[in-house]
Amino acid sequence: MKTAAGELNPPVRLLCGTGPTNPDPRVLRAMAAPVLGQFDPAFTAIMNDVVDLGRIVFRTGNPRTFSISGTGRAAMEAALVSLIEPGDRVLVGNCGRFGDLLVDIATRYGAQVDQVTAEWGQVIHPGAIEAALARQPAKIVAMVHGETSTGIWQPLEEIGRICRERDALLVVDAVVTLGGVPVEVDAWDIDLAFAGTQKCLGCPSGMGPITYNDRAERALAARRRPVTSNYFDLTQLQRYWGPERLNHHTLPTSMTYALREALRLVVEEGLEARFLRHRRAGDALKAGLTAMGLELFGDPAHRLPQITAVKIPNGVEDEAARLRLLEEFGIEIATSFGPLRGRVWRIGLMGYNAELPAVLAVLNGLEHVLRSSGVGVPRGMGVEAARASYLTNFRT
Ligand SMILES: *Cc1c(COP(=O)(O)O)cnc(C)c1O
Repeated sequence: MKTAAGELNPPVRLLCGTGPTNPDPRVLRAMAAPVLGQFDPAFTAIMNDVVDLGRIVFRTGNPRTFSISGTGRAAMEAALVSLIEPGDRVLVGNCGRFGDLLVDIATRYGAQVDQVTAEWGQVIHPGAIEAALARQPAKIVAMVHGETSTGIWQPLEEIGRICRERDALLVVDAVVTLGGVPVEVDAWDIDLAFAGTQKCLGCPSGMGPITYNDRAERALAARRRPVTSNYFDLTQLQRYWGPERLNHHTLPTSMTYALREALRLVVEEGLEARFLRHRRAGDALKAGLTAMGLELFGDPAHRLPQITAVKIPNGVEDEAARLRLLEEFGIEIATSFGPLRGRVWRIGLMGYNAELPAVLAVLNGLEHVLRSSGVGVPRGMGVEAARASYLTNFRT
């Protein structure tokens, strides 16, 4: 019988929004590998590879390094629901939409939430965290490492030290940063970090890598009541991923293959080389946008390489311009939320896309779209400036 739904044939896009990014073709090939049962020794060996590779990428010796089956937000839920008991105090450093999300989730699980806030586009000052903990101790301090909503890169080293001194657990959202800029779990005294797969790891969305240390594990073991969520209960999941192989949910086989291949690609490239590649691409994009006369958004000292926030020129209609870029050039970039909606675009160069061709394609497409919206963008200058930046920057 003929179905109304035709054969699946989605268009090929250049995904330069805030995720998903275009997965590495090798990751997509890994997903086509045969499905295995979750307790098949051939599959548990693959799970062990995810653990070992995850430790290298998170830069940690934590034995409890594995993946939540779900997107980055699922890993965030797992972290918070497992650590929080109703009434616990949680301090959130909040300067964007993902800070808001930490507040929302912690509140839903019954925490008493305090916040240290900064304006969108700025970072949180470690001194403000220290002062807040001096006023009111907290069990958990939750921070966003890369605030995707604003393109801002939060320094964490000092906050880790402060949390140790004040006996708080530091929980870090590294969803947009893992695989793109250093995430030093052990060196920065991060007690728990989680990530996602569709950003700088260059994978489709669907897994949430997570790691936590003995301090976090002791907090889990000291719970008075079981974790409110069964699916996201880290005390069970760590036994599923460990040698005990406690029966829990059916691990998404193909996504596990994808994550393994993505992590393997990061380790094969080398972390430093990969970070440099993201910096080089991000710098080139920023140079190109500036040469086109556009203004970048946010604190210049703390801009993420992999997410560039740029102000939308006056007179340009956000949605219509992005639709033209998508339909005529096949390129996706992202709008913004909250106070930045309609004012700022966010352009991502993550994982597989952190390369010169993607930079030039975005700048070329934007130039044409802006010119046809009546903005006086000089012809070819964005592309030229980006090429010049890319070819000289970090050359060895
Ligand atoms: C994308 C993102 C998330 C949410 O991840 P999903 O995979 O969309 O659930 C959380 N935090 C940050 C910083 C992100 O960039």
